[in-house]
Amino acid sequence: MKTDLTSTSLQVKRVENLPDDFIFGMDASCVPALEASGVTYTDFDGQVKDVYEILRANGINYIRVRIWNHPFTADGKGYGGGNCDLQNAIEIGRRAAKYGMKLLVNFHYSDFWADPAKQMPPKAWQGMSVDQKSEAIYQYTKDALTALVDAGADVGMVQVGNETNGAMCGEYASAPNGWQHITQLMQAGARAVREVCPHALVVLHFANPEKVGSYENYGKQLALYGVDYDVFASSYYPYWHGSLDHLANVLNHISDTYGKKVMVAETSYAYTSLDTDYYGNTIDAGGGVAGYPLTLQGQADMVRDVTDTVVNKMHNGIGIFYWEGTWISVGGKDYASNLAIWEKHGSGWASSYAGEYDPHDAGKWYGGCAVDNQAFFDRNGKVTEAIKVFGLMKNGNNPDSK
Ligand code: CA
Repeated sequence: MKTDLTSTSLQVKRVENLPDDFIFGMDASCVPALEASGVTYTDFDGQVKDVYEILRANGINYIRVRIWNHPFTADGKGYGGGNCDLQNAIEIGRRAAKYGMKLLVNFHYSDFWADPAKQMPPKAWQGMSVDQKSEAIYQYTKDALTALVDAGADVGMVQVGNETNGAMCGEYASAPNGWQHITQLMQAGARAVREVCPHALVVLHFANPEKVGSYENYGKQLALYGVDYDVFASSYYPYWHGSLDHLANVLNHISDTYGKKVMVAETSYAYTSLDTDYYGNTIDAGGGVAGYPLTLQGQADMVRDVTDTVVNKMHNGIGIFYWEGTWISVGGKDYASNLAIWEKHGSGWASSYAGEYDPHDAGKWYGGCAVDNQAFFDRNGKVTEAIKVFGLMKNGNNPDSK
């Protein structure tokens, strides 16, 4: 099954030199929780289909999935954000493989969201020394990857930590020997990847490329402590993370200096200013980037230009991953009915149950999805025209468009 690209309202300019093996990835970690919430996904022909099949039919060739160690309370209430544990990743890995897609396994080494603001260790690892935590990361990574491979997932890349901007799993660069400790943890994860998945690429992932000198410093620390990795990956949210030219410059420093591959591990853009699930969105009418309206065409233009930058401005750029392009409204008629669904199935960004682990953020602001207007599916789960950008970039359909 492949979508017919001859008829479309999108105007997409060809990306020159686009390799046939370029990675068009999709982080689709929340899908099982959304399905449990009643969400279905519909193709262009109006048929309900497995959303991973719809993604594949539209040019996606890689799926990214995050793993939290134990995103549950002691009595089994899910923290939300998809309740993305190992079992969830196994299901997604199987379904991705069924449609011929590889898997990027994204270990947060936390029980909930790990990002530049939060790098809390899992509950079970709290109080461990760095040596103990290294051993725990090694063993956890090894066991999880073994389970994924045994289940039939085609593991092509493994991300050791998520947005580890000078912090990971409770270790911080600002502490004495901070980078030594962080890199020791990274190395423990990488060692497990090499053992279980010798053909997979080891990915390290950072955010905020716009912060001058930060990636240069990360690259230096990784080299100083001899971390064994293949890909230096960056988040790139256009409305936060500076210009595409700047992104290319800071990643080229890494690929030129250390011979690493580079990629965009997360990116996304809004196709509408409207919210569809009664929980406010990250980007609304006041957001966005000049030149890229919050329309299907604007969203497609952004994906095209991020891709063009990775292909034609970066050295050793291997791909892009769109973030949670399948995360949509659970469809309730008002906030209260959606909240009940999010609490039960973990399909909002955080449930109230996450407050025990993350009191200052999830505990205060728990609720729904803040990126439903950045998906490739509308509020009813129907795939949108914008997803055709992935298939159109190879040859383009309008040489005069931007
Ligand atoms: Ca929303």
